[in-house]
Amino acid sequence: MTERAACHCGAVHIEVAALPSEVTLCNCSLCVAYGVIWAYHDVADIVSLPDASLTDTYAWNGRHVDFHRCRTCGCITHWMPRDASRQKRGINARLFGAELLATARVRHKDGANTGKYLD
Ligand SMILES: [Zn+2]
Repeated sequence: MTERAACHCGAVHIEVAALPSEVTLCNCSLCVAYGVIWAYHDVADIVSLPDASLTDTYAWNGRHVDFHRCRTCGCITHWMPRDASRQKRGINARLFGAELLATARVRHKDGANTGKYLD
């Protein structure tokens, strides 16, 4: 059994082995603008990712990470590191549905300054 995140129109979906117990609210300028809460997953726990033709991307601040959004409905869906050897990927936790956000611990990350968690 897998857990599935899907954008509003359903064109982009991502499957993972299990939902995280923690999600991350980051205060960097991009995450604040997107309004996104991230579920971080090890690459080994990601069962499927969308075809690249379904998303557009944006990168900033050194361009180490590509932020993907659905080409049809515009939802931010996930980010991928350009260095594929990095183990973490981020998925928009909101797209797993309301239950995850109701039950997961929300952690606050100071991405704007120190890059460390504030709690
Ligand atoms: Zn969509």
